[in-house]
Amino acid sequence: MVGAVPVTVSVLGATGSIGKSAAAVIGANKDRYRVEAVAGGSNPQELARVARQLGARFAAIFDQAAYPALKEALAGSGITAAAGAGAVCEAAARPADRVVAAITGIAGLAPTCAALAQGSTVALANKEAMVSAGAAVLKLAASHGATILPLDSEHNSLFQAMGGAPMSTVARLTLTASGGPFRLWSAEAIAGATLAEALKHPNFAMGSKITIDSATMMNKGLELIEAQHLFGLPEERIDVLVHPQQMIHGLVTFTDGSVNAGLAVPDMRVPMAHCLAWPERCDSATPALDLIRIGRLDFEAPDETRFPALRLAREAMRANGAVPTVLNAANEVAVAAFLNSRIGFADIVKIVETVMIMPAMADLPAPASVEDAVSIDSEARLRAGEVLSRLS
Ligand code: NAD
Ligand code: MG
Repeated sequence: MVGAVPVTVSVLGATGSIGKSAAAVIGANKDRYRVEAVAGGSNPQELARVARQLGARFAAIFDQAAYPALKEALAGSGITAAAGAGAVCEAAARPADRVVAAITGIAGLAPTCAALAQGSTVALANKEAMVSAGAAVLKLAASHGATILPLDSEHNSLFQAMGGAPMSTVARLTLTASGGPFRLWSAEAIAGATLAEALKHPNFAMGSKITIDSATMMNKGLELIEAQHLFGLPEERIDVLVHPQQMIHGLVTFTDGSVNAGLAVPDMRVPMAHCLAWPERCDSATPALDLIRIGRLDFEAPDETRFPALRLAREAMRANGAVPTVLNAANEVAVAAFLNSRIGFADIVKIVETVMIMPAMADLPAPASVEDAVSIDSEARLRAGEVLSRLS
């Protein structure tokens, strides 16, 4: 914060779980932040409520049909209403000091890129954009002088634990994982898990897509790929450690054997506050970490047999082509089908693997541009749809 000039913030995915964390941190630091734009998917009343609460200037909803309802809900507020994919990108591209990229899935890729193309500092929660088009997104950011701050809690804590040390001094990075609701379940029980069981995350209340990804542990797989891009380390130097309490979010092992751990209460307002204030600090409105009350921290090795999504993500990282893009697309299709009760829990990863190993997919080169990634994503979605219709 420079003097009394507020930091301007735009929030993409403002009606979601991460959007609520952004609103809470902004609300706890009212003099520090001013909201430029908010964007959401399909709930005009909720978007209008958030826009009014935050005093945004511009509110964009993806669903064109929701425009009249958004306009009506914003009547008299002075907030401009807009609708459609272009409007969401416009919200992202309006001048702002920080853009929170928290739209779920590949739908967040174009808006994230629109913000980066303005040279903005993007707080990135939308891991699917990085998984699908990592190299192209980084290239775009570099060519516009934009900065990407990791908002995903593990990557945020790694970034902080690194303390600006050169990557040449980092030997390994470790992402912790809660293990999800099925951490202690047998493979047979996991295969028969219901939607309600899969939606019960032990530590976090999150959007439905990432909650299912946490149950399959594909979330950690996506995060491995995200870390590979954000920190530029090869697959074999990034680990997963199951840590059910999720008080440690990431560990940085340096070449001399020193290890820095990033600790915080498992609450997305903490990395949100870090990303909004960086390189300064602000109030995250969260309770203090109380290690005496917690008493103990437990650790387990990840199990790639019961959670094959981890193995698939590692295969995608090693394949070094378009496989991460394909994995992400097939996973989005499969998770949506599971959420609609069209397939069983075990089918999610089965669909991803089937699409990943199709020669037409496995042999594609890595996407050289964001447009490339989008076209590979569409192709992989078609293939996943075919596999899905055979299964359901
Ligand atoms: P969510 O489902 O609660 O919210 C998603 C938001 O995106 C909503 O505001 C929705 O309206 C909006 N949206 C969806 N499609 C859109 C579109 N086409 N255009 C504009 N807006 C659209 O999800 P979430 O849990 O907040 O997660 C958001 C992202 O952050 C995901 O990529 C997730 O992996 C990542 N993330 C979430 C958490 C968490 O704790 N929730 C933690 C780390 C990373
Ligand atoms: Mg995470």
